[in-house]
Amino acid sequence: MGFFSDKCAFCGGKATILTRNKLGDGSFICGDCRTKVSHLVSSSDFEKMTKSDVQELFETTERNIAERSGAFTPTMTFYAGASRNKIVMEADENHGWFRVKDEKVVFDLSDIATFKMNLRTSELSEKEKEEQKNNNNSFMTWLFSNDGYNNYPEVPRCPSGRKVTGLDFVLTMNPNNLHVSKITLNLMPDWSSTKEAGQSAYDCAHNLYQFIQNRAANNYQHNNTATSTTNASASTSTGSSADAYEELKKLKELLDMGIISQEEFDAKKKAILNL
Ligand SMILES: [Zn+2]
Repeated sequence: MGFFSDKCAFCGGKATILTRNKLGDGSFICGDCRTKVSHLVSSSDFEKMTKSDVQELFETTERNIAERSGAFTPTMTFYAGASRNKIVMEADENHGWFRVKDEKVVFDLSDIATFKMNLRTSELSEKEKEEQKNNNNSFMTWLFSNDGYNNYPEVPRCPSGRKVTGLDFVLTMNPNNLHVSKITLNLMPDWSSTKEAGQSAYDCAHNLYQFIQNRAANNYQHNNTATSTTNASASTSTGSSADAYEELKKLKELLDMGIISQEEFDAKKKAILNL
């Protein structure tokens, strides 16, 4: 075991306890040097890195911002907040990129591995319980009604007797060169449990869910097209069942004449009939 001072391994300055992060090799990065990488790199992400990993990350981060931030053109913007004016996430579908609030680096949409929603709740006060009974305009009343949930079947339900104090959309990332393993999007950024803030959070969660699910489906389709080109062209060239019949008849002749093998005939037949 070597001895590690409290000095920052990068600038040589003092790595104070409150702002530093510890690396896997036992060395430290100070708060100032830390700002050269995404703020989404967590303590546990740092613990997986060595000094040379971080050195490389400084360059990767700088390059990412230089190459992508100017080219980034949002095609989808996800808003939250009671007035729905706070940007949570932006996607540039043409480049296959996304970026999140307060962060300059641009990620690949394909780096999103999984996602989940975290609902934060707290117990209702007596006053709020009364409010829930009497005031039809409150977020809590709305949320507990079928109305509140029917629109958002994917969003976790608030246990009864409690109120929603926060909703996070958490993206788990595939290993990426920005060393970010998790992105937590706060969908109730004003910390208020008003009906407007809650509805906007639930809308945003719903939209993010739909967007990411559809993207996964599109990726799946892209993969499918890439591997089944022959199938696709065979079925478009036949078009109708009459055409398919004619084509099969020709194929059968070719088989009988010994020009194509039984395997080739079977494969073609499968493709024509779209089996
Ligand atoms: Zn430093």
